[in-house]
Amino acid sequence: MRHRRRYGRRRSFRPLILSLAICGISIAAVAAVWSKSGTIDRSGKFTGPVILAQSEILREIYEQALEEQERKAAADLAEDRETEEEENTGQAQETQREPDTAISIAGEVTDEASAPKLRIVLDPGHGGPGVKDEQELGAIYRDTYEKYLTLEIAQAMREELSGYGNVEVFMTRDTDKALTLKERAAYAEAVGGDLLVSLHLNASAEHNFYGSEVFVSAFEHFHARGAGVGESILKQLTDYGFVSKGVKTRLGSKGADYYGIIRECKSLGIPALIVEHGYMDEDSDWARMNTSESLKALGQRDAAGLAAYFGLEKGRTLSALPELEETIPASPVRPDTTPPEEVWYKKEQRGDGKWMITLHGVERESRVMYYDYSLDGGAVYSKLQLWGTGESVQFPLELTGEEQLVFRVYNNYELRTETPAAGS
Ligand SMILES: [Zn+2]
Repeated sequence: MRHRRRYGRRRSFRPLILSLAICGISIAAVAAVWSKSGTIDRSGKFTGPVILAQSEILREIYEQALEEQERKAAADLAEDRETEEEENTGQAQETQREPDTAISIAGEVTDEASAPKLRIVLDPGHGGPGVKDEQELGAIYRDTYEKYLTLEIAQAMREELSGYGNVEVFMTRDTDKALTLKERAAYAEAVGGDLLVSLHLNASAEHNFYGSEVFVSAFEHFHARGAGVGESILKQLTDYGFVSKGVKTRLGSKGADYYGIIRECKSLGIPALIVEHGYMDEDSDWARMNTSESLKALGQRDAAGLAAYFGLEKGRTLSALPELEETIPASPVRPDTTPPEEVWYKKEQRGDGKWMITLHGVERESRVMYYDYSLDGGAVYSKLQLWGTGESVQFPLELTGEEQLVFRVYNNYELRTETPAAGS
């Protein structure tokens, strides 16, 4: 298979492993140390040997384990199908024996083997034994690594989806291990994935953003499918209390999808989306992801959103899934690369002496998302406030006349326009 190519390099390491064994160091022992190094608790404390964990030898062992896991996944898949067939035969007999209890619901089938099954690949973002590599750790905040939280979310999502019919779930990783984006996409292809959902948590440079967002391919049906699932998941996340920053695209300098996992999946013909649930470094978002229960809830929300989009039903296998109404974009869906326009404010003193600010901003390519303001010429800013749906917002400010007012208006691509500092 095409994806096996990536193991080519591995073979050249065999002599190295052999010589290691000859040196009296048991690979199994090293592997045990390696796997122990993966046991880091929520506080982010690392208990394993860093240098060993990052060595080429351990990388080698890890790659073998990966290959083994893929083999096992394929074998499990074959076994599952056999078991299913057996179960179905049993069910059919039972139905014959006890016709009274047989439920006849339109769309439901007894022949599960012929029922359509979506193959959903869950991709918990990041992972791996490294303690410095940002790609492995993901966002780091409050002594917590993103890689652990994404895994918990994915496990909960898998668990929740297992209650639905017409779906098979695969995971690019179920432990704390390193995988390149290419490997994740190749895994999705190897298991015949119809869609890959990459699960992440966010953080921002100024620790001020909050909200959920989804990134999808800018192209054709990859966009349509990703955006459809993404909107459905975002609806679930906003019901849970997050603000939605929407479904977005991002293009690299060469005009391809910017995010590797989306690009790699697309190159293998698999639609993919990145779900950024919320910001680890923002208090209100963090409160929705800081316990195992809340991470579980996120996974359940993701599952519900995905199931709703595809028309999956809990505890029922349908003979056919509903047709999806997807609009394939004729040209790439480009991200917004310009900040809000027509940004200005006016202030009016009310009867009670307080000031009412009207802040204006227009965004034709995307939408205005937040605003903030400074009373001291830009040294300190307020928390980001939600914009709403109109072309302006109104809010009161208590002013003494000493202030240097600055207002900033952001779109949902985090681009902002700032008013010139002015005395109040
Ligand atoms: Zn991430």
